[in-house]
Parts: sequence; structure tokens; C-alpha cells
Amino acid sequence: MTNHQRGVTLWFTGLSGAGKTTIRMALEQKLRNRGLKLEVLDGDIVRQNLTKGLGFSKEDRDENIRRIGFVSNLLTRNGVMVMVSAISPYRDIRDEVRNRIGDFVEIYVNAPLEICEKRDVKGLYKRARAGEIKQFTGIDDPYEHPLNPDIECRTDLESLDESAEKVLKYLEEKGYVPAPANASA
Ligand code: ADP
Repeated sequence: MTNHQRGVTLWFTGLSGAGKTTIRMALEQKLRNRGLKLEVLDGDIVRQNLTKGLGFSKEDRDENIRRIGFVSNLLTRNGVMVMVSAISPYRDIRDEVRNRIGDFVEIYVNAPLEICEKRDVKGLYKRARAGEIKQFTGIDDPYEHPLNPDIECRTDLESLDESAEKVLKYLEEKGYVPAPANASA
């Protein structure tokens, strides 16, 4: 078996509660089972260290994404698969990061705001509606959806496994993930 892995950044963008983390974790499990080298940059965790102190203005959100993109680029060019889950609401900075990295897969995790709000995984929508959190994406801050994502996961219409398999299949087709050994047998 060759051990040569092509680096790539998988960028999950979408509203809070759309399913970025959930799909990322399901996919991560599938890929780890295949022995791939991978690293995760989760928006919530990154904001506690790499981008600690940044707020939610456009300027700060862009800086957050730029730093995540910087680290993703270092890893990607060293043959690592990087999985980023971050709301990343602004199109221009997503495109900037994509252009810098090159080996980049934009995954639009899409569910209508009403669904995300109903799920309210972390209770944040309730707090945003109550005015306790300002500049909350989808409520009083914009989300610019991708115009031409590589993959779109409609988490209100498809199952978690369907979404994860869709991404996996795309990665196999593009040669970022070797097809399972028994597939070609
Ligand atoms: P995000 O990371 O985008 O903020 P999370 O992954 O934390 O969102 O939360 C998404 C929620 O939606 C989870 O509670 C998850 O169980 C639920 N969910 C329901 N259907 C799906 C699906 N098809 N794909 C992903 N998540 C789903």
C-alpha cells in the first residue's frame, strides 16, 4: 500500500445548527477508519485559542477565517486532510482562502433558518432572539451562501449518512481519498 496522501482542505460553511460539525464528525470517522492523516479546525474551538479575542464584526470574522485558512494551507501543502467547520458567512474571504489553498473543497451545509432555529443545538438562537447575543448569523448578521459550492448537503432533506457519503464519494472521485481496497477487487 502506498502512503502518499494528497492534502486538501474540506471547508464546511453554513448557519449555526445546519449540521457542519455533525457531518464533519461522521466523515472523520469514516476517513480515520481508512487510515488517513487528518486534522480538524472547529470554529468554536479555534475561537478559544488561535483567534481568541476576536469578535463578530465583518473585520473580525474575516480575520478569524484568514487565520484558519493560513493554518489549513500549511497542513494541506504537507499532505494532510484538513476539516474546517466554521460558519464563515462572507463569500469574499472564503474565496480568498480557497484561491490561496487551491486543494480546497467547499461544502455548503444547508438547512433553512427556521429548521436551524428549531434545532437550536446550543440554545444560541433563543438568546439571539432575546437580544442577549448580538450579531448572530441569520438573525441580525448576514450569511452569504456559496454561489457554486463543490458539494451541498441539504440536512433538512437528506440523512446524515447520505450527506457524509456524498462528501466521501466526491473525495474519492477527485483522488483525495483512495477508493476502499475491496472496491476494485
Ligand atoms: P453546526 O456545526 O452547523 O452548528 P451541529 O452539527 O452542531 O451544527 O448541529 C446540527 C444538528 O442537526 C445536530 O443536532 C444534528 O443531530 C441535527 N441534524 C439533523 N439532521 C441532520 C443531518 N441530516 N445532518 C446533520 N445534522 C443533522
